[in-house]
Amino acid sequence: MVLPLLKGLSVTLRHFFKKRITVQYPEERRQLPPRARWLHQLQRHEDGLERCIACMLCAAACPTGAIYIVGAENTDRHRVSHGERHARVWDLDLGRCMFCGICVEACPDEVIVMTDRYELAVDKREKLVLHKDQLVAPKGTPPRWAWMGYYRREPADKSPLQLPLFKHLAYEKYLKTRGREEKHG
Ligand code: SF4
Ligand code: SF4
Repeated sequence: MVLPLLKGLSVTLRHFFKKRITVQYPEERRQLPPRARWLHQLQRHEDGLERCIACMLCAAACPTGAIYIVGAENTDRHRVSHGERHARVWDLDLGRCMFCGICVEACPDEVIVMTDRYELAVDKREKLVLHKDQLVAPKGTPPRWAWMGYYRREPADKSPLQLPLFKHLAYEKYLKTRGREEKHG
């Protein structure tokens, strides 16, 4: 009779002295893994120009039709990106998005990355449609590189990757090709 009681008490006491894992959200915010797939961000070049060239590949690849883009020509007086075109409109409908990350993979210029911003609740359905000014990275934001869904701060970063060997080797090959392309303009 006493033994089960003591056993139960010991379990209670064990949990009493354990480190608390409850996060006092929203005062405290749990740090998400670097590959967390939440709100999209549209990257800029180091010089502040937008990376997006309005090729529409992300919109075409999106399985739910969540991306809507209207392109416009760049001119010398109004240059928004380095390419011939820029995205005049770049809308994301969060009501449709399922955060699959396919748009990230589809983009040829590594414009889209997904961030750890998960506070996306709104009180009106219309507010689920986010516009370019809400998605594009603020000027001066260090670029993040997206490749096979593995985000790195910059391509020259040589820190060891926690990847299976075949992916690591493929990644190194990709970096070399990228370096060659950049050298030859
Ligand atoms: S994460 Fe998936 S569903 Fe959302 S916009 Fe990108 S491709 Fe579309
Ligand atoms: S985000 Fe990438 S894929 Fe989408 S339109 Fe811009 S450059 Fe093209």
